[in-house]
Amino acid sequence: MLAEVISIGDELTSGQRLDTNSQWLAERLGELGVTTLYHTTVGDDLAANVRVFREAVERADLIVATGGLGPTADDLTREAVAQTAGVELELDPASLDHIHKLFERRKRTMPPANRVQALFPRGSRVVPNPHGTAPGIDLSIPRPGRSDARIFCLPGVPAEMREMWTASVAPAIEVAFGPERQVIRHYRIKCFGVGESDLEQMLPDLIRRGRDPIVGITVSKATITLRITAVAESEAACRDKMAPTIATIHECLGELVFGEEDDELQHVVCRQLAAARATVASREAGTRGLLAWLLGEASTASFRPFVGGIVTTETMASGAADVGEWAEQARRQFTADYGLAVGPLDADDVDIAVASATGVERIRFARAGHPDIVVPRTAKQALNALRLVLRRRHDHTDRSR
Ligand code: AMP
Ligand code: MG
Repeated sequence: MLAEVISIGDELTSGQRLDTNSQWLAERLGELGVTTLYHTTVGDDLAANVRVFREAVERADLIVATGGLGPTADDLTREAVAQTAGVELELDPASLDHIHKLFERRKRTMPPANRVQALFPRGSRVVPNPHGTAPGIDLSIPRPGRSDARIFCLPGVPAEMREMWTASVAPAIEVAFGPERQVIRHYRIKCFGVGESDLEQMLPDLIRRGRDPIVGITVSKATITLRITAVAESEAACRDKMAPTIATIHECLGELVFGEEDDELQHVVCRQLAAARATVASREAGTRGLLAWLLGEASTASFRPFVGGIVTTETMASGAADVGEWAEQARRQFTADYGLAVGPLDADDVDIAVASATGVERIRFARAGHPDIVVPRTAKQALNALRLVLRRRHDHTDRSR
C-alpha cells in the first residue's frame, strides 16, 4: 500500500513558506506502517490541482492533501477533488451549522464566503475540525479493477491539520488499511572518515534499490549516515530483518562507524571520556571556536569531560604554528588528561594533534571542499582523531564495537 502527500498553495510553490506539513504527515504515515512514495506540491490553480489528484489516484492508494480549504477564491481543493471524482459539490447542513456557531462564539456574523466551506463532494465524509472553519474531506474514489483510492483533504494550518490527523484520519487509516498495514522501522548508523563513494565501495552491494531491508546513504557536513529501513509484520520482525545488515556494515566499516541514531562525534567522544574518567582541553585556530563549542555542547551536567578551550585567530602568516605544542599547552593549562588541537585554517593541510601524558600524536589531512563545509569537517576531524586514540586506549563504550 502506497501513499502520496499533496501540499497545496502558491505560498509553497513560490518558496515564501516552507512546506512542513508534508514532512510531518510522511513521518506519521510511516509510523502507521504506510510507505509514502510521492510528495507533490502544487499552486492554487484548479486545472493543475485536478491533474495532481488524478495522477495521485492512479499511483497511490492513500492520498493526504493539505491546504486550499479556506473560504476565499484561491481555495480550490473542494472543487478539484469533486472534479477528480466526477461528482457535484453539495451542502452539508451540519458543517454549515458548525461554521455559523464558530462565528457566533467569536461574536461575528458569518460572511457569505464561508458557506463554501460547508460544501462537500457528493459521497464524501466530513473530517471534523473542532477549532477551525474548514472541515476536512474524506472521499473514496473507485478505480476499475482495483481497490478504491482514499483521499483525505485537511486544512493547511498546521495546528488544525495535526489535530484532525490525530483525532480522525489516523484512526480511519488504521481501520481501512489495517490488514494491509505493516510496521516500518528505521535505524541509522553514523560514520566519519571517508567520502560517501569510498564508503559505498566498502559495502557489498548494500545500497542497491529493491534490497530488503533497504539501505540509504546521506551526508551532512562530512558525517555519513546509513539509514536502514525494514518493513515487516512487527517491530521484532523488523529488528530481526535488520540485524544481519547492521552486522555486515560493522564488519565492513570497522572504526569508521562511530555511533547510531542521533549520535554525533562529540557525544561519542564525551561518552568515551566519561567512561575513562578522563578530561580534555582544546586549542583551535581557524575553526571559529566550533571544536570547543561541540565539546561543551556534549558535556553533561553529571560529568564534564571538557575543561577548557583556547580559540585563536592565528594564521600560518602570523607565525610558525606547531599544533603538537598547542595540544600539550592546552592540556597543561587546564590540567586535563588530553589536549586536542587543530591548526590554522590558511595552511594547505589540516593539522591535528592529540596530547596526553604519554606523548603527542599528529594527524594531517588535505584541506578541500566548500568553505561552509571545511570548518565543521575540520572540527569533526579533530574529534574523530581523539575518538580513535581513546578507542585504542580505553574504549569499550564506542558503539562501533
Ligand atoms: P490554507 O488551508 O491553504 O488556507 O492554508 C492556511 C495556512 O496554512 C497558509 O497560509 C499557510 O500559512 C499554512 N500552510 C498551508 N500549507 C502548509 C504546508 N504545507 N506547510 C506549512 N504550512 C502550511
Ligand atoms: Mg491556501
